[in-house]
Amino acid sequence: MQGVNQLFWPAVCINCRESICESDRSLCRDCWSELLGCVGADYCPRCGRDVSRYAIVAGVCPDCQGKEFHFDGIARSGVYKVGESLQQMIVAFKNGRTELDSTLGFLANSALQGSSFVNAIEFFVPVPLHWSRRLTRGYNQSLILANELKHPTAKISTDLARTRRTKYQPVMASAAARARNVAGAFAVRKGHNFSGRNICLVDDIKTTGATLNECAKTLKEAGASKVFALVLAVAGQNIS
Ligand SMILES: [Zn+2]
Ligand SMILES: [Zn+2]
Repeated sequence: MQGVNQLFWPAVCINCRESICESDRSLCRDCWSELLGCVGADYCPRCGRDVSRYAIVAGVCPDCQGKEFHFDGIARSGVYKVGESLQQMIVAFKNGRTELDSTLGFLANSALQGSSFVNAIEFFVPVPLHWSRRLTRGYNQSLILANELKHPTAKISTDLARTRRTKYQPVMASAAARARNVAGAFAVRKGHNFSGRNICLVDDIKTTGATLNECAKTLKEAGASKVFALVLAVAGQNIS
């Protein structure tokens, strides 16, 4: 049976293509340990940036003190650092390597289980792509990720849509420029079920948080009660 399985799923690491002996694993030992080295650090439950747990006062890091966000909290797997394993896998996942779904899903599930809001979630809402971009890419990576999430009751809703195509922005674009770029870019579909519900947005990367913030604002205007966010990686540690 093992031999037959390996015909269909040859036991190679989906990241580096090294052969592996355990056919039930998708990554080789080296890739696993590199990937796990990118996740699990302490972070601010409000903005997701790296911060020691002792620096968190009243639930936020020093950088978040006095700041207003439309989302109520965040869970993240790791940090988006160019050249690191997590960043490379996220880029590959966006560029056609959808077979990374279960590996990245595993990381997202761990972050979700470690969050304070997991039990409150009623809907997972993937951050939408504009239809024209989804057509070019063929899929929305955030929806694939949402499909990997394990939750006893929450359902996925795709009733948040991107109504305007926004520009790609370099990581270093200012927070104000990013906020302008996404302002008014989202809307909820007719017949949505968000009123009074607790929602968790799902995305691959948070940079300044402008996109998550705009999505959360749109969902709250549609009557959502709480809006949380779950991302694989938080980028732009030094951008405020
Ligand atoms: Zn490998
Ligand atoms: Zn913070």
